[in-house]
Amino acid sequence: MLPKERILGVPVYQPGKPIDEVKRELGLTEVIKLASNENPYGYSLKAKEAIIDHLNDLALYPDGGTMELRWDLAKFLQVKPEQLIFGNGSDEILQMICRTYLGEGVNTVMATQTFSQYRSNATIDGAELIEVPLKNGVHDLEAMAAAVNEKTRVLWVCNPNNPSGTINTEAELLQLLDKVSSDVLVVLDEAYYEYVVDAEYPQTVPLLDKYPNLIILRTFSKIYGLAAMRIGYGIASEKVINDLNHVREPFNTGSLSQVAARAALTDQEFVAKCRELNRQGMKQLTDKFDEWGLSYYPSQTNFILVDFKQDSTELFQKLLKNGLIVRSGAALGFPGYQRITVGTPEQNAKLLTVLENLLQETVSK
Ligand SMILES: *Cc1c(COP(=O)(O)O)cnc(C)c1O
Repeated sequence: MLPKERILGVPVYQPGKPIDEVKRELGLTEVIKLASNENPYGYSLKAKEAIIDHLNDLALYPDGGTMELRWDLAKFLQVKPEQLIFGNGSDEILQMICRTYLGEGVNTVMATQTFSQYRSNATIDGAELIEVPLKNGVHDLEAMAAAVNEKTRVLWVCNPNNPSGTINTEAELLQLLDKVSSDVLVVLDEAYYEYVVDAEYPQTVPLLDKYPNLIILRTFSKIYGLAAMRIGYGIASEKVINDLNHVREPFNTGSLSQVAARAALTDQEFVAKCRELNRQGMKQLTDKFDEWGLSYYPSQTNFILVDFKQDSTELFQKLLKNGLIVRSGAALGFPGYQRITVGTPEQNAKLLTVLENLLQETVSK
């Protein structure tokens, strides 16, 4: 078998370790996963009821047009139904973007330390990568705009950025959009949109009227807590959505995912509660990190990238032995760091206790 040569350079995605695997491997009974930015409060009971209500319908193919969710979400976002596209997670939408706009002979601009799937999918489709380093953990939109050339087709802005948790402000974004040619698709990945509380964060849906070369990606996987259902969406001009629909699989989102997302959307109380609890959990963590003199990037998400100034893999393994799964910064372009998802108050407390012991060990050695 001879696969295409360029896919061999694409690393196989290494997900956060599953809880059961860690329990089995290390003989632990209690394991806390703070590795994949999942919602520690689960998901809306309304979504659960909707899923249960539809368990009898599984013999039929799903609605390939995702019409009911489309109408609800269009109303919720105040856009036209034709301005939406749904995917098997927003991951699938960024894959569709690459398939539609990228190939050999063109390039794509992204940050060096950002969500790995932009790089992987662009490489699979044969495009050249132009990577621009973050500036203080934030997308350097000026440098990214300057990196665009006549062969650039797609520019990626992860806002807030994974893995740093930082945001670009509205002013920075508008400068970029005004500079970049309208032939370049600007992708705004807003997977953590609902977690943001900073007033300088841009509200991007109203920008679509002025910038038809924009696509906003959001997901039900993060604050809505439906990561297992695999459903995300893109918001863009009708033209961009039309382009993407050419490469979309006919039944790319499942029936249960559609009904769960629809019900979850009606429960904005759950979303608001999770946003508030997340800020409290973030403070619980940063208060201790400040006390210990650790530095971290200011995060508008449900995770935080902390500089422990020690070998990422070693500290990751020590935490694992204590029943805590986090994400080692080594694989994310931040050696010495760990990316930690904010958990419940109890989970955070456990993490802080274990960390305190481990950090004292290092000092007393
Ligand atoms: C989690 C995440 C996604 C993907 O979410 P889906 O589960 O595929 O909807 C996309 N972008 C970023 C930055 C993420 O962190």
